[in-house]
Amino acid sequence: MAEEFQTDSRRMLGRLREVMAEDGHGQARLDRITRLIADSMSTDVCSVYLFRDPETLELCATEGLKPEAVHQTRMRLGEGLVGRVARTGKIVNTADAPKEQGFRYMPETGEEIYSAFSGVPIQRLGETLGVLVVQSKAARKYNDEEIYALEVVAMVLAEMAELGAFVGDEAALSARHTKPRLFRGTSGQEGSAEGHVWLHEPRVVITNPIADDPVRESQRLNEAVEQLRVSVDQMLAGAASGDAEQLQVLEAYRMFANSKGWMRRMEADIQRGLSAEAAVEKEQTQARLRLSQASDQYLRERLHDLDDLSNRLLRILTGQGKETGAEMPADPILVARNIGPAELLDYGRALRGIVLEQGSVGSHAAVVARALAIPLVIHAPEVTNEALNGDHIMVDGDQGVVHLRPEDTVVTAFRDKIAMQAKAQERYASIRDTETVTQCGTRISLTMNAGLMADLPSLESSGAEGVGLFRTELQFLIRNKMPTRSELSAIYSRVLDSAGGKRVVFRTLDIGSDKVLSYMKPADEPNPALGWRAIRVGLDKPGVMRMQLQALLRAANGRPLTVMFPFVAQYDEYRAARAEMDKALERERILGHALPESLEIGAMLETPSLAFAPKRFFEEVQFLSIGGNDLKQFFFAADRENERVRRRYDTLNVSFLTFLQRIVERCEETGTPLSFCGEDAGRPLEAVCLAAMGLRALSMRPASIGPVKSLLLRVDLGAVRQVIEDAAENGEQSVRRAVLDHLRNMS
Ligand code: PEP
Ligand code: MG
Repeated sequence: MAEEFQTDSRRMLGRLREVMAEDGHGQARLDRITRLIADSMSTDVCSVYLFRDPETLELCATEGLKPEAVHQTRMRLGEGLVGRVARTGKIVNTADAPKEQGFRYMPETGEEIYSAFSGVPIQRLGETLGVLVVQSKAARKYNDEEIYALEVVAMVLAEMAELGAFVGDEAALSARHTKPRLFRGTSGQEGSAEGHVWLHEPRVVITNPIADDPVRESQRLNEAVEQLRVSVDQMLAGAASGDAEQLQVLEAYRMFANSKGWMRRMEADIQRGLSAEAAVEKEQTQARLRLSQASDQYLRERLHDLDDLSNRLLRILTGQGKETGAEMPADPILVARNIGPAELLDYGRALRGIVLEQGSVGSHAAVVARALAIPLVIHAPEVTNEALNGDHIMVDGDQGVVHLRPEDTVVTAFRDKIAMQAKAQERYASIRDTETVTQCGTRISLTMNAGLMADLPSLESSGAEGVGLFRTELQFLIRNKMPTRSELSAIYSRVLDSAGGKRVVFRTLDIGSDKVLSYMKPADEPNPALGWRAIRVGLDKPGVMRMQLQALLRAANGRPLTVMFPFVAQYDEYRAARAEMDKALERERILGHALPESLEIGAMLETPSLAFAPKRFFEEVQFLSIGGNDLKQFFFAADRENERVRRRYDTLNVSFLTFLQRIVERCEETGTPLSFCGEDAGRPLEAVCLAAMGLRALSMRPASIGPVKSLLLRVDLGAVRQVIEDAAENGEQSVRRAVLDHLRNMS
């Protein structure tokens, strides 16, 4: 590129900066900018179109078109050439605009006499804010240098728009980040919360997109990149060697940090008048654009890495780290692209709600959010781009909806909902110590599911009779290296202490499938849910299982202990696991450690095969717990992690209930205690049906105990059973409607 052009571009940016420094309201600024560009590029028209709302673009300033058209001419996204640029995010550059596909004639602008058209998207970090257009009478195509200059100006305009530079009297534009926004995501944890935004990764604000001393900017960039390289090397040196995923990310960081192409492009942008920060952000915008178009998972991950790295570099350059000076609000709602379980635990119960752009229902962050009972919405697109620290925000974890900067009507409705939920909570609190006995006199034991120390206060507050499922893998998931036996033993001991004599069912490590440990990854498997997981790993590589069993025995230290094995598919597996426990006991005896006062060993029934195991198995196992989440996915062959299919089959499907009834009967034959600990146990309607099918012990998340108990206290299980049988008799596929009608009529 010619040196002369670089100077021109720099001169244009220099003038732009002067305009920005001058006093004046937003509209006057925009007007001056269009004039300046038209003048610098010797072109007849320069116009700026900005989004008025997500679907409509508005002509906000022009040099060359009729001034009356400003704030009058509007077009829908995708309409005309301007709309096309906005929708695709791609430049349109043509010598003969009327011949272009999609051209729309707008008489109010007087534009029929202009032949050449070039439109460049005004983008910031992958979000299109508007379109910058130049036009000329002569039928000529703008050359590469001119297009490049427009791109740079468009970027600076985006930065200025972000800073609210075009807002003010007469501008007819509202400031960015001020309008109400609704985000539709997916529910990760139920519950509603109101609060103020706390961004996990603070937004870097660039206040100086244009610079007049390229030598200095280049030096700043080089120093910052050097600092970045050093920090990446340090991170690599400190990374856990077994954590292949973390290493892959860090290697990608290192690759990008040393990439010559990346540096060269940023250097070139600086030579053309951008500040070091703006040059970094321009690259970041490009990466985000590619990200929005890439479907390949690997490429997407690497583009995310580049995005993260750019953020780090920007924080070094601007000095805006975690210490941006912003104070966490008293009622923080965490907004992040994604977050790890350990970081989430650090925030702990201080958070009122969580909104993530990514994540999945089974992700570790979701597991922690559930343990902390914090409403969580995942898959809220673009929320980190839109939310600012301190924004008013409402999270509806039941519907997976987020209201950012909500209007008054929404606020009122939402607060009504929260108040109703609070009332219900009061009702539940009033029955906390009431025994769960149904109208027909059947006693149902309600226990809670847990896995983290953070869960345990709920044992008291929920009125749970004990912990029916302690998912021990969570302690492994929140660490980046394998915990030691003594660490585990200390944790289990604290769990037993907190339980204060209530029964705690420790489930041995259930890893694999959706629960993958970064430091103990199984080889890629085509179907991980059907693969090497849980007890299969435990039996094939017994070292970890032995260590865990010893930790449990030591933690019990003479107290009663209950242990169950996950994902047992056949009798033999149970026997082999039981034998491991016997060996562990023997070892403890030899070492002279105190043995548990009583020891109960059970299994989870999570595969249909175990329901048909020999009678001997039912006689031998001391208790069984139905893992409904897994059992249902295998019964219906519907992946519990797959949004497309996971809700397709109803738990209250007659086939599934009949199957559960068969399991109840088999346990009754042998007197084997049976419970149910899948998520369905915590849904009141499902819980009533499970009880009607003969289940007498249900384990659920603590927040569900109140609603489940409240309903159970009011029902007659015999009557519900009759409704279920009648519905089945009538050929219904699911008994949901019939039972719901019955319950409604009851009250
Ligand atoms: C289940 O499968 O129902 C269960 C309780 O275990 P997890 O959800 O941990 O697989
Ligand atoms: Mg399971």
